[in-house]
Amino acid sequence: MVEGSSDFYSQQIWVIGVSSKKINEYIRNLTPYIEKKAKDLLPSVEWFYDTLKLYCCMPSSSQVGKKYIVIVLKGGEVERACQCVANRQGRPCWHMVATYFIWRKASSMSEEMCGAGLDYIKYTGREAVKYFEDVLRHSWGLEETKEVIEEVRVKGKVDLSGLSPTLSTLEEFIGGLVG
Ligand SMILES: [Zn+2]
Repeated sequence: MVEGSSDFYSQQIWVIGVSSKKINEYIRNLTPYIEKKAKDLLPSVEWFYDTLKLYCCMPSSSQVGKKYIVIVLKGGEVERACQCVANRQGRPCWHMVATYFIWRKASSMSEEMCGAGLDYIKYTGREAVKYFEDVLRHSWGLEETKEVIEEVRVKGKVDLSGLSPTLSTLEEFIGGLVG
């Protein structure tokens, strides 16, 4: 990334945005278009709430297969803001608005829960935690890359042959990095 390029500046805006904003600040200056899009696409947002943090995963509406993850603390502090181009450039994105709607509901819950949109709760309590750890964390790609790369660094070489096809591809990618 070249200093002075538009990419460089959007990255800087993104870093500042993550550290200082609360989720309710993302619904200020909300346009009717973004609000409608967030409400229409709300059922496609998968989420898990562990009573301290809300994790939301939503598909990109323009790029097939691409997902965005947003993490918000119970008190509204944004731990991980949306990585889409609009949000990185400081423009409203429907992902943050949809996350706000779900956060408003989830943050009042006293037990762990996972679901999709506002009307569907899949599991509660220990079942929700287990589902998040065993299934959602991996299908969302949360921290997977970081953990595997660290393991490769520590052990030099790990056998990933028993893992999923996604991870095998990742192994080739990491092999290229460390090899
Ligand atoms: Zn976004």
